[in-house]
Amino acid sequence: MSEQKQLTRIAVLTSGGDAPGMNAALRAVVLAAEHYELQVIGFKHGYQGLLENDFLPLCAADVQHILQYSGTIIKSARCARFKEVEAAQQAAAILDQHGIDGLVVIGGDGSFRGAEHLANYWSGQIIGVPGTIDNDLYGTDVTIGFTTAVAIAMDALDKIRDTADAMDRVFIVEVMGRHAGFIGLNSGVAAGAERMILPELQKDKPLTIAAIVKHIERVKQVRGDGSYVMVLSEHQWPGGAVALAEQLEAQHGLPCRPCLLGHIQRGGSPAPADRIIASELGVHAVELILQGQTRVMAGLQANQLVAIPLPETWQKKNPLNANLLRISQDIFNPVKKRQNTL
Ligand code: ADP
Repeated sequence: MSEQKQLTRIAVLTSGGDAPGMNAALRAVVLAAEHYELQVIGFKHGYQGLLENDFLPLCAADVQHILQYSGTIIKSARCARFKEVEAAQQAAAILDQHGIDGLVVIGGDGSFRGAEHLANYWSGQIIGVPGTIDNDLYGTDVTIGFTTAVAIAMDALDKIRDTADAMDRVFIVEVMGRHAGFIGLNSGVAAGAERMILPELQKDKPLTIAAIVKHIERVKQVRGDGSYVMVLSEHQWPGGAVALAEQLEAQHGLPCRPCLLGHIQRGGSPAPADRIIASELGVHAVELILQGQTRVMAGLQANQLVAIPLPETWQKKNPLNANLLRISQDIFNPVKKRQNTL
């Protein structure tokens, strides 16, 4: 790291939807800052706390033994007012009052839009750290929290499978990810779900109830009685899993139950992979500040640390893993005919 700027103070905040591993990222930022002899303050409750000048000094002792917990010790929040020009100007003035050279924003695409907005009115450096269970940020192979959310959804699907099998029932398990089907696809493949209803697929060719019923019945013909478990990404069916289950039961006589995972997907103990990438990316963010970078996200691509311009992280999209889709839709689909084309 040549030509390091002489910096003294940085700030950090966690913003938007919380994600398992945010604490690990916060810890990494603070430990890296101490290592490089920078002071750190944390603004509480995301941009809301920044506007209210609600802050606390952070040192290594404050972040001891937090990486094994989800949530965020400096709290997160949503702050609609931050979209206004006056709010960004006010935040810039507060950061300047504190003598802050660089700000690390740990959050998702909304938080990064906020960071870019602030950067238009503040001359300090701003670095994003991808903290969202949705995995919907371009420029990093995986976001902090995604692996834990998939593990939680998979665990729930396994448990649902036990009871669904016992009663020969259809279950619809609703998972998070209204704009991106990564949690739905990965947990569905990991748990062997018979069908996944994902935003990317619904956009191209929305499923009809008739198509769902036909598939359930054909799977039954091929495999005999048993369970049928569907993963539904939130907002992909009017009325969600509850409405879909009611329609299948009332209109088609299929014994069907909904299960909504909701915020369970954000809690518990972060998976090792989330703790590890959070540690890497938190340190990377501080080192990017020391290198003079700004308006970029600290990312990881094929095990290489990268810096991606913030707007690219939400303007470009990571596609769903095409091979996982193929496997789940064709190879593992009991009603698809074998094609000897390989
Ligand atoms: P996430 O970071 O998890 O995607 P949100 O979309 O809720 O979460 O965004 C978090 C916060 O980021 C918002 O409450 C708001 O304060 C800020 N934000 C989001 N979009 C913008 C924007 N276009 N301009 C300025 N600030 C924004």
